[in-house]
Amino acid sequence: MQAENLPDVVAVVVAGEDAGVAGVEAEVGAAVVAEDPVLLELLQAVAASVATTRTTAAAFVLLIDSSWLVGSTLIFSWRRSVPDRVGAAGAQGSLLRGGPPGQTGVTRCHAGRRAVGDVPTLEEIRQAPKVLLHDHLDGGLRPQTVIELADGIGYDGLPSGDAATLGSWFTAAANRGHLVGYLEGFRHTLAVMQTEDALVRVARECVEDLADDGVVYAEVRFAPELHQEAGLSLDQVVEAALEGLRQGSDGRDITVYALLTAMRTAARSLAIAELSVRHRDAGVVGFDIAGAEKGSPPTLHLDAFDYVRHNNFHITIHAGEGFGLASIWEAVQHCGAERLGHGVRIIDDITTRDDGTPRLGPLAAYIRDRRIALEMCPTSNVHTGATRSLEEHPIGLLRRLGFRVTVSTDNRLMSGVTLTSELHRLVEVFGFDWSDVQWLTLNAMKSAFAHFDERLAMINGRIKPAFAALRSTPLPA
Ligand SMILES: [Zn+2]
Repeated sequence: MQAENLPDVVAVVVAGEDAGVAGVEAEVGAAVVAEDPVLLELLQAVAASVATTRTTAAAFVLLIDSSWLVGSTLIFSWRRSVPDRVGAAGAQGSLLRGGPPGQTGVTRCHAGRRAVGDVPTLEEIRQAPKVLLHDHLDGGLRPQTVIELADGIGYDGLPSGDAATLGSWFTAAANRGHLVGYLEGFRHTLAVMQTEDALVRVARECVEDLADDGVVYAEVRFAPELHQEAGLSLDQVVEAALEGLRQGSDGRDITVYALLTAMRTAARSLAIAELSVRHRDAGVVGFDIAGAEKGSPPTLHLDAFDYVRHNNFHITIHAGEGFGLASIWEAVQHCGAERLGHGVRIIDDITTRDDGTPRLGPLAAYIRDRRIALEMCPTSNVHTGATRSLEEHPIGLLRRLGFRVTVSTDNRLMSGVTLTSELHRLVEVFGFDWSDVQWLTLNAMKSAFAHFDERLAMINGRIKPAFAALRSTPLPA
C-alpha cells in the first residue's frame, strides 16, 4: 500500500484509561474493521467503555493502554501503512503481531491531521507538563553550586574548579557500567551538603531547575542519614530540605514533595521510616531504601516497612536495578512496595513463546496486574549496568505490554540528563510519539504519592488539557 494512495480516513481506536483524549476526532467505522476478526473483537470488547466523538465519517480512534495486545494490530497496520509520515515508529507493532501491512483488514487508513505533529520535538516535550517520581537531591546539583559550596567550607576534594569540566567529570565517573562505581560521585556532592544553608540552597535550585524543564509535579528523595557529618539532626536535615523545596516552588508552576531514603547497607531504616511519617504533613510523602542492592535485600529492613505500612504511609523501593527478580519479589511481597525504583530486571520474568509473542511469568504478571509503577531512569540504567544500552532497555517492550511504566531522571548531574532529554531519547530510540509521552506522564501522576484528589486535579486540570493543546498545535519546526 502506498501512502499517497490512501483515502482521507482516520483509522485509530480509543479505549481504556486513555479514552477520550482531547484533540482527536473520530468515530467508529464498522466498514473499516468488519473484515478483520481481531479488530471486530476489539470493538465489541471495548464498546461499552470507548469514548468516541462522531465528527468524521468512516473513522474510529484507538489509543492503547492495557489493551495493547489486541489494539496493537490496528496501530501496527495503521503505522505501517503510512511509513513516510510515522517514520521509525512504524515497526513497533511487529513484536506481538507480525505479518505484512494491510493484512489486518484496515484497508482504508490515513494518519489524518494528527500525523505530521505526532512525534514531539525536544522543545515540545520541554513545554509539556511532566511528572517526575524518582530524582535524588544529592544527584542533581548544578556543578557551579558544588564548586561554590565547596569553596565555602574549604572542601578541596573536587576534581575540577571549572563548572563545565566538573559536570563532565561527574557524567564520566557515573558511566562505568556498574552501580557501585556510579555511586562514587556522590562522595563530592554529599561533602558539600552538610549544613542547613547548603541543603536549603540545593533543594531550592533543584525545584527551579525542574520547573524550568517543564516538570509540574515531582517527588525528590534524599537520605537524611548522609547529611549529618557536621552535626545536624535527622529532623534538621529534613526541615532544611523541605524549606528549600518550598522556596523553590514559591511562585512557580510546580508541586514538589519529598521522599526519605534509608541506606540499605546501614541499619537506620526504622529511624528514617519514623522520620518520614513524622514529617508527612510538612511535605514528605513516602519512604524508600537505596544503595548497593546486591547483598542487602529489602527484607533486612522489614521493621521499617512494617512501621510505614502500619502508619498508612507510602513505600517505594530501589529494586531490580543492580540485582534481579528476588529483590523485586521481596520488595513487593514482603515489604509492601507500591512502586519500584527502576525494576528493570522484571524483564527476566518475561520469556518469548514459539510464535514470538511475550509470555509473562507470575511475578511480571503480578506487577502488571497490580499496576505497580516502574520508576525507570533509562540513561542511569545504562550507566549502572542495569541494561547494556538504551536500545536494549526493556522500556519499549514493557510499555507495549501495558506495565505501569514511568520515566524519571534518577541523578540529573551524574547522568547529564533532564526529564525532557530522557523522554526525547525514548522518542529517538523507540519511536515513542505524543501518545506514548502522554501515557508515561499520566502513569507517573497516577502512581504519585500525593493524595488522590490532588492527582486527579493534576491529570484533568493540568496535564490532559496541556497535552491536548500541544498535540493539536505543533510548534513550528
Ligand atoms: Zn535512584
